Amino acid sequence: MIKPILIHPDPRLKKPCAPVADLSDDLRALADDMLETMYHAPGIGLAAPQVGVLDRLIVMDCVKEGEPEPVVMFNPEVLSSSDDLNVYEEGCLSIPEQYADVTRPAAVRVGWIDMDGNPQEKDFDGLWATCVQHEIDHLNGKLFIDYLGPMKRQMITRKSQKMKREMARG
Ligand SMILES: [Zn+2]
Repeated sequence: MIKPILIHPDPRLKKPCAPVADLSDDLRALADDMLETMYHAPGIGLAAPQVGVLDRLIVMDCVKEGEPEPVVMFNPEVLSSSDDLNVYEEGCLSIPEQYADVTRPAAVRVGWIDMDGNPQEKDFDGLWATCVQHEIDHLNGKLFIDYLGPMKRQMITRKSQKMKREMARG
């Protein structure tokens, strides 16, 4: 089921999310819905707060061509980051049509719980590294525009607010 995606500004996008204690069928169903919503948008990552659920859950698929590689992470955590940095022009499904360069560690090691409840650990680089950091930020109430200067952030927020009003009018 495709879920509506919250558009910035929204207080739910600024809240830290709670760790997932038990993997219920409801949470697995939510993960499936989030993947469907992400592919439909289309996007390469989606965090639970973007569909109004304040749980630590993200989904991703950064494969642009070929077989899809859906990844579901409960309680994802950056365990270590490279000193090397990478600049990527980021966007966000909650901030439609706005993009800006963000600098982040080029590679990260991430730990999480998978759909079967098993702990996982993996190194990510390239677009995957940027995406996983962007999505984990969402779980801490942080958006990519929070890395920008105040002028740029306000400009993007105004545009997003306008877009949100237009979408509400239909
Ligand atoms: Zn985002």
